[in-house]
Amino acid sequence: MLTIVVALAIAAAFLFERWLDWRQVRHVAAHRDEVPAAFAGRISLADHQKAADYTIAKQRLGLKQDIVGAILSLALLVGGGFALLQSATVAMVGTGALGSLALAGALALIFAAISIPFDYVATFGVEQRFGFNRSTRLLFFTDLLKSILLTVAFMVPLVLAIDYAARQLGEAWWIAVWGILVAFNVLALLIVPTVIMPLFNKFEPLADQGLKARIETLAQRCGFRARGVFKMDGSKRSGHGNAFFTGIGPAKRIVLFDTLLETLVPGEVEAVLAHEIGHFRLRHIVKRILASLVVSLAVLALAGWLSRQDWFYAGFGLDPTVARAMPLAGLLLFVLLLPLVSIWFRIISTYVSRVHEFEADSYAARHADANDLANALVKLQRDNAATLTPDPIYSAVNHSHPTIAQRIARLPIPR
Ligand SMILES: [Zn+2]
Repeated sequence: MLTIVVALAIAAAFLFERWLDWRQVRHVAAHRDEVPAAFAGRISLADHQKAADYTIAKQRLGLKQDIVGAILSLALLVGGGFALLQSATVAMVGTGALGSLALAGALALIFAAISIPFDYVATFGVEQRFGFNRSTRLLFFTDLLKSILLTVAFMVPLVLAIDYAARQLGEAWWIAVWGILVAFNVLALLIVPTVIMPLFNKFEPLADQGLKARIETLAQRCGFRARGVFKMDGSKRSGHGNAFFTGIGPAKRIVLFDTLLETLVPGEVEAVLAHEIGHFRLRHIVKRILASLVVSLAVLALAGWLSRQDWFYAGFGLDPTVARAMPLAGLLLFVLLLPLVSIWFRIISTYVSRVHEFEADSYAARHADANDLANALVKLQRDNAATLTPDPIYSAVNHSHPTIAQRIARLPIPR
């Protein structure tokens, strides 16, 4: 019975993504031959068509990855793959902490074995073909090695801590796991910008003196410490341009890609910075963290309840007694099921994210020049070959940022 429900959930999620994909490709292709009126003269037909072709090429690759992902989900959850993996681990290393670690490691390996080849094809296939890739094979594999080492260094203690808490606390284990995840996330927000990201990229203060002075005045006006503004050598890997705000407390910073700085004039840089400062002043990161704390507590409460039900284990072919002796098995099973449910709620988080983008834009329009922001957005669109004509439903579900057209339309500029 449970197997049938899960098989249907996998099929429903897959078909939903396919339907969105199909809409997106159809919509982008239908608008490929004409630059939207609002952008006539600002974006060339060649750039517009490149964005359409690039969007469709990425969709095609995504389809292949989704097919492999759905097959894996079916094998693990419906075909008894997870139960097989768990019993093999128990047979080899037992139900202790080592067993938990081995099971989590085996799953991580399986998922990495799928995502790494797709990353490779995305970088040296699609990105290369559209002239965006600047990474080399050496850099790609060096990055991969660093990521694997970092994942092991962080995941082993995390898994062991969760495993320990789950064994010690009986029925209330999920509250402890929540506490561990909260601590882990806070730690990540403190060390990712300051320690982890510098392992992959170089971060330096903006060198241009004139620009620096402008930024300092802007930062002062907005109550942000200008020392937190960095240039990142994004050009090392890709021609895409970007800017983002990250971190909390002493680790908070605004990062501008060198690729973006190359194309923007100082006024535009100031406008982009004002947008990122807006995310900080309007407390968007803190709000997202608080929301995810509430959601994850509710989700873990559900995991806690399920972990006490024999049918939950039996439904996936696990021996309930053995599974209880190894609490992490139930949690990992739950984590594998989660995407089948969360996909239906993704539209909420993308909606909130888009509201935040509009708020940061309007903040930028108050503290910098709205025209400059509009020009910067057009340049960003070109650097990233983002489609100006996404399907509205696809966009509502998948896009964390409104389209450039929607963002410019809300800016207080004469048209
Ligand atoms: Zn933003």
